[in-house]
Amino acid sequence: MAADRLYVLLERLGNLLRTEERAAGLPHGLQPVHLQALRYLQSCNRYSNTPAALTEYLGLTKGTVSQTLLLLEEKGLLRKQADTEDRRVIHLLLTEAGRAVLKQALPPELFKRALSGLPGDGAALDESLTELLRALQAANAQRSFGACGTCKHFQREGSGRFRCGLTQDPLSREDSQLLCREHEGITPGH
Ligand code: SF4
Repeated sequence: MAADRLYVLLERLGNLLRTEERAAGLPHGLQPVHLQALRYLQSCNRYSNTPAALTEYLGLTKGTVSQTLLLLEEKGLLRKQADTEDRRVIHLLLTEAGRAVLKQALPPELFKRALSGLPGDGAALDESLTELLRALQAANAQRSFGACGTCKHFQREGSGRFRCGLTQDPLSREDSQLLCREHEGITPGH
């Protein structure tokens, strides 16, 4: 049955990738969860770099995430910054050292090599897996954490000028590629 076969394949891939992540983090004294936190914080936008959003994205407990943040801060890989408008909100920012570690560690070398052997560098796989992820998130009523430029609130105002229809803030081209906690996909036919 396709479901059984696909499930086993994805499970096997998940295990293999986790093993690779573990090996990549070892020289830096980091576990996979630490690398995953760094990678999320590098890819998300300014509305989504909070401890709460990170907890939701990783699907872990608050306690595990605060331990993770403590270790990353101690190692000088991230720093905390209070929001300029609401001092109760804390933003988590990667340091230069954090970016450098991430660049070295992820994606693991073995994964990059395997991917380069696929037709179109895995473009068709990317499409199918994105659809599968969307379907699972919708079935679970989970946030999509999608890229800003694919959100229903994303507005184009002219050449290189964009705006978030939810917050009314202007957005840059770079912002349009970042992950957002408030992302809502466009419903087909709209
Ligand atoms: S347009 Fe959507 S994804 Fe982009 S910042 Fe606004 S809510 Fe987030």
